[in-house]
Amino acid sequence: MAKDCIFCQIANHQADAKIEYEDEDFIVFHDIKPSAPVHVLIVPKRHIELADDLVEWEAISGRILSIAKRVAKKLGIAESGFKLVMNCGRGAGQMIDHLHFHLIGGWEKDPGLV
Ligand code: AMP
Ligand code: ZN
Repeated sequence: MAKDCIFCQIANHQADAKIEYEDEDFIVFHDIKPSAPVHVLIVPKRHIELADDLVEWEAISGRILSIAKRVAKKLGIAESGFKLVMNCGRGAGQMIDHLHFHLIGGWEKDPGLV
């Protein structure tokens, strides 16, 4: 755990979040500043900073997709459609250096590309 990392704190239940799913390795909670009607973050509990560790990546990527589908169903956006977005690096808008995916959906009209 990285002491000053808010996602590590949430994963360890040391900071509040509205949690939608949790298992031994992952936690899914609502984004504090949602950019869509439904906006949750899928976060591995281990503090992985950047997408450099390929072994780690291969281990988690399949699970991310199945957790996304499961939470999308729970939140009622599996049928209407959802996006799974990762901001990788500052130039792409990554603010929190703990690997995470945004699961977003629930729009009434076409949301456009992003
Ligand atoms: P990114 O820009 O890809 O690093 O995404 C970080 C996301 O984390 C942003 O959408 C923030 O709104 C969200 N966020 C930051 N702090 C919290 C928090 N304490 N609880 C929930 N979401 C957060
Ligand atoms: Zn962390």
